[in-house]
Parts: sequence; C-alpha cells; structure tokens
Amino acid sequence: MEIFQDLLNYSHEQVSFFTDKESGLKAIVGIHSTALGPSLGGCRMWKYGSEGEALRDVLRLSRGMTYKAAVAGLRLGGGKAVILGDPRQDKSEALLKAFGRSIDMLGGRYITAEDVGMSVADIDTIRTQTKFAVGGSNEGGSGDPSIMTAFGVFQGIKAAVKFAKLGEDLQGLTVAVQGAGHVGQHLIAHLSAAGANIKVSDIHEPNVERMVELYGVDAVKVEDIHKVECDVFAPCALGAVINARTIPELNCRVVAGAANNQLETDNDGYDLMRRGIVYAPDYALNAGGLINVAAELDGYNKELVLGKVSQIYSTIATILELSREDHVPPHVAADRMAEQRLKEKRKPFSAMAVRQ
Ligand code: NAD
Repeated sequence: MEIFQDLLNYSHEQVSFFTDKESGLKAIVGIHSTALGPSLGGCRMWKYGSEGEALRDVLRLSRGMTYKAAVAGLRLGGGKAVILGDPRQDKSEALLKAFGRSIDMLGGRYITAEDVGMSVADIDTIRTQTKFAVGGSNEGGSGDPSIMTAFGVFQGIKAAVKFAKLGEDLQGLTVAVQGAGHVGQHLIAHLSAAGANIKVSDIHEPNVERMVELYGVDAVKVEDIHKVECDVFAPCALGAVINARTIPELNCRVVAGAANNQLETDNDGYDLMRRGIVYAPDYALNAGGLINVAAELDGYNKELVLGKVSQIYSTIATILELSREDHVPPHVAADRMAEQRLKEKRKPFSAMAVRQ
C-alpha cells in the first residue's frame, strides 16, 4: 500500500489513524481540506475487504465533501471518517465512545456526522465524548438528514427537467427511482405529491411494497429499473450505476438522484452528454443533508435550512447552464464551480466556535 502516494494523489491535508484496544476500534479520519472552514462529513462503518480499501474510501469520500461543501456555498471543508467493522456485529457503546474521544483529539478540524452504518442514536453516543459531532437527537441537533437530502434532490430534479425542456414541474412525468431507502422514500413522497408517475425498485422487497401501498407506485425488477422508459432516472441506492454497461440501456432524458459517486468513471459523464441525457451532478444535488447538519453549527433553524436547501434548484440550473456554455459535461462544470470557490475563499483554518 503506497500511503503517501495515495495522499498526494488526492491532495489531503491530513489523515489520522485511531485504535482502541478495549473496544476494538480501528478508524481512519481523512481531512481533505480546511480551506473554507473546519472539515465536516459523515462517519461510515463498513466491513472493508482490506485496510487499503478503507483508506482509499476515506480519501475519496473526504475529497468529495470538500467539493460538495464548496458548491453548496458552505463555510466548511471536506472530511470523512471510516470505522473498520461490521456495524451489525462490531458496533458497541464502548467503540462509539472511543471514536468520539478520537474525534475530540482533532480539536475541531474534523466534525463527524451520520453515514452508512451509523444512526442518529450513534451520534448521540459519540456526543457524550466530543462536541464535534452533528446530526444527533440532542436539543439543537438536526437528526436524520435524509429528509432534507430528499427535499434538495426534488428541487434539483425540477431544475434538470426544466433544462431538458420537459416542463416547469413534474406533473405527468415518469420518474424511475432506484432504491427506496431513507432518501428514496422521502423523494417518492415529493414526487407523488407533484403528480409524477413513479416506478420503483429495491433489493429489499418490503421497501417497494410499502411504496406501492402508500403511493401506488409501479414496482420494477431490480435489474430493469435503469432500462425503463421514463423522463427521469433517479439513482438513490449505490454509486457507479452510470457506467459503460448501463449507459447504452438508459431510456431517460435526465439522470438525477441522491446516490453518491453515480458515475463509475469520468468518461461516463462524457458518454451521457453524447447521448443527450442531462445529468444533475450527484454531490451538488444531494447536498441537502450536509446543509442540514451544518446548520447546527450556527444554531439549527429549520426555516433557514429549507430556504438554503431550496437553492439547490438554482445551483443545478447554474451548473447545467455553465456546462452548455463551456461545452463540458455537468460533472466537469460542477467541479470547476467548486475549484473556483476554493481558490477565491482560501484562508487558513481557525478554530471556530462549535455549540456545546
Ligand atoms: P439507505 O441505505 O437507507 O437506502 C438505500 C436503499 O437502496 C436500500 O433500501 C437498499 O435496499 C437499496 N438498494 C441497494 N442496492 C440496490 C440495488 N442494486 N437496486 C435497488 N435498490 C438497492 O441509504 P440512503 O440514506 O437512502 O442513501 C441513498 C444514497 O444516497 C446513498 O448512495 C447515499 O450515500 C446517498 N446520500 C444519502 C444522504 C442522506 O442524507 N441519507 C445524503 C447524501 C447522499
């Protein structure tokens, strides 16, 4: 494993490794950038195949957070943590507390939150050891971020649909949602209220059944969801679903969903453009959850958060316009927007006041 080469490739400021013998904690925190403010990003608990895989995941994810925060206009940098282990078997109160103590040692350069394998209750446990954790159920805590993520995705879908000349709203349009988990279910509620025809797949059958019951959606086989004829394909499950194998099979005008890292490779963004499919860049579209947890740092105010998350509509509209003007795919336009903001606002990190 070429650790320093990996760090150089991703341009990280700092990567810290933490262990705790008693609880079995093995965690890595990646601080990609504090140029715009303290780094903030969720903690993922996952049974990685190897330590190298865990390291690369935290490097990739923390760099993504820098870009996400910059495009969302937040005074935050990019960071992420991973805990190596199976969340169903290896997670314990002692382990979460040890992780909380580890985060505290970073003195606010990294603020943690929920991600895959972690819950609001886990954040509450971590907060017993450090104030540098957001998304808990404590007073002033913002709780489950998926509600705001879905609201932001819904706003961005409307902007992409307008850009693709499919209409001002979603009335009568067909949206295929891949994954009816936390974000997917809230998104389906918005789509249903907007009068869209909804097609849904999920590997966990009860999730689809629930959506059929609540909203009368059409259930689609897992292997077919990206192929169905629709206006919008909304990936809300896994990353890398837009790739050389799926792009020729897409039957949509817009790809816009919550999943992180939807493009398997950079080239897939170019292929979507060549096929005339409008792509709403994932990290710009799914920033609602980050905006929600970040709001805790200034004192959580739901109305303000809703206003900020609504702006994802104009962010997506601006990115799509830039991509048209510059003849580049939207994911490149989004990266350029983030890099421009980082260049303009670069300033040294100073410890900021974090609510106790
Ligand atoms: P989740 O685990 O609650 O839901 C994901 C759903 O996808 C599950 O129901 C799962 O059964 C289903 N699924 C997995 N593989 C599938 C497949 N091949 N086909 C169809 N369904 C499949 O996760 P979530 O919190 O809803 O997040 C969804 C995506 O959005 C993830 O990529 C996540 O990283 C991203 N995201 C989430 C948030 C948030 O606030 N939760 C914020 C930003 C980005």
